Amino acid sequence: MATIFSRIVAGEIPCHKVAENDEFFAFLDINPVAAGHTLVIPKKEVDYIFDIDDAELGRMMTFAKRVAKAQEKAIACKRVGIAVMGLEVPHAHIHLIPITKESDMYFGRKKLEMSQDELASIAAKIREKFE
Ligand code: AMP
Repeated sequence: MATIFSRIVAGEIPCHKVAENDEFFAFLDINPVAAGHTLVIPKKEVDYIFDIDDAELGRMMTFAKRVAKAQEKAIACKRVGIAVMGLEVPHAHIHLIPITKESDMYFGRKKLEMSQDELASIAAKIREKFE
């Protein structure tokens, strides 16, 4: 059965898309720990990120870097933090989180509550800066 993230790529489940190429897809996390919290995934289904072959993982990181550069321009932050867990969704993904302080990366805290309009506006800003 397709993962929830494959269903997002297929357009079966809505998302706030940030960027896409042939191999990778980036969209806003539905439960952001900080404004602009984005997930980068490979379109090809792989559960564990360190099972991705070296060349593809390199390309995924390069794609994530481009997304992070767009986030830096679109969202007020000091830098973009990166995290990988994958405990919830069995489809490899990199969390890219605009941060100004260490606690912005704390996944245990209460998630931000944002309206669909706010999320759409943030995604549009990041998309606009993506090169
Ligand atoms: P983890 O697998 O532990 O890295 O966590 C999965 C992440 O995916 C969480 O931050 C969720 O909020 C996020 N997530 C789950 N379903 C969706 C969805 N439909 N759209 C966007 N983000 C999602």
